[in-house]
Amino acid sequence: MKRLVVASGNKGKLREFAELLKGVVETVLSPADFPGFPDVVEDGATFAENALKKARSAAQFTGLPVLADDSGLSVEYLDGRPGVYSARFAGEGAGDAANNALLLKELAGVPAEKRGAAFHCVIALCLPDGTRQTFDGSLPGAILEAPRGSGGFGYDPLFLVPEYGQTFSELPLEIKNRISHRGRAMQLLKAALAEAGEASR
Ligand code: IMP
Repeated sequence: MKRLVVASGNKGKLREFAELLKGVVETVLSPADFPGFPDVVEDGATFAENALKKARSAAQFTGLPVLADDSGLSVEYLDGRPGVYSARFAGEGAGDAANNALLLKELAGVPAEKRGAAFHCVIALCLPDGTRQTFDGSLPGAILEAPRGSGGFGYDPLFLVPEYGQTFSELPLEIKNRISHRGRAMQLLKAALAEAGEASR
């Protein structure tokens, strides 16, 4: 593929996608390359709806293939919340500390065996002709009663990855990126792009 737009203003995500797409896409573009790039209200009921909405709007605007993602945390005891509201669980503009504090409050007194949770990520790929595809990655874990570790962002210090006995904040970034919801969705995307590349040769 010659040119592809990653519809995200998050520099960390843009870097991750650019790295992943090396050898598969010649030029990776971002919203900064397109004056007037449309803002999208993320009001979908699912991660897939939000990712598709962002990708579709950007594909129409740029006339190029576009990738967009949406991710978040689903907690079993909270019937899947915060889900698509993960970034603004404690309110519009709430930071990580407020979101984590609210999560601990809502799970106060809940025993370990009922603190199951999973991170989810959906990456959507939309082509200007309307063709679209989604790639789903998730990672199960559990919510601790107190934060552990200093790395990462968001809910990382509270999210225990059982097979490592460490939180996302304690795990080396290289391991987190390999096993995470986003990492898994990206691996599926990369396999599909590589296959499409092979098929068009
Ligand atoms: P978005 O996909 O950038 O909209 O992410 C939504 C929200 O989900 C973030 O603001 C975080 O609160 C949470 N989130 C998504 N991925 C992670 C992660 O890998 N670690 C911790 N929190 C995450």
